[in-house]
Amino acid sequence: MKITQAEFVISAAKRDQLPKDALPEIALAGRSNVGKSSLINRMINRRNLARTSSVPGKTQTLNYYRINEAFYFVDLPGYGYAKVSKAQRVQWGKLIEGYLLGREYLKLVLHVVDLRHPPTADDRMMADWLKHFDIPTAVVATKADKISKGRVPSHLKRIRQDLELASDTMLIPFSAETGQGREELWEYIQQSLMP
Ligand code: GDP
Repeated sequence: MKITQAEFVISAAKRDQLPKDALPEIALAGRSNVGKSSLINRMINRRNLARTSSVPGKTQTLNYYRINEAFYFVDLPGYGYAKVSKAQRVQWGKLIEGYLLGREYLKLVLHVVDLRHPPTADDRMMADWLKHFDIPTAVVATKADKISKGRVPSHLKRIRQDLELASDTMLIPFSAETGQGREELWEYIQQSLMP
């Protein structure tokens, strides 16, 4: 995929702030700090377009990035950050659920997990939920550069088992650091964007 254009559009906190130009959307869901912003930056080969978070869990907004005037990456607020209040957690749930269940332009969710570790309880909950509502999902296991190549297959197997992924669910090892997995992920995204 040749990137000709990439721009930050809006941090939306409410439904009426979402873009109205009807472009398809690829959303990213994952634990705070798992590497969602870094993944976006690597996909478009820009160092800093997506803001890598310094205060995890604080941004309760949907961050929209328009790519090639053709689609949006939508960075969803991260989950699993311990130091948020119950009220914030409820707010998070409403925002995510409203978006994932109600957004007609959503084509694919990239569920981003950490390849180094077994999925957390929150990761499993997110995966269950996406499956339950039949939302098209690919799982991206990031930070692949942080484990040795030889350990990758067993870690992928563990993620597939723990998240109870269907055999045809795409699971892609990825690294924002080295670009591993970038081409494969672009191919999958392009397929998902086809009408
Ligand atoms: P977000 O909260 O999910 O958007 O996570 P960030 O993209 O801000 O990443 C959190 C931290 O992990 C940052 O310090 C990143 O530099 C680091 N990080 C993210 N992806 C990778 C990766 O693929 N490899 C390595 N080594 N570090 C990464």
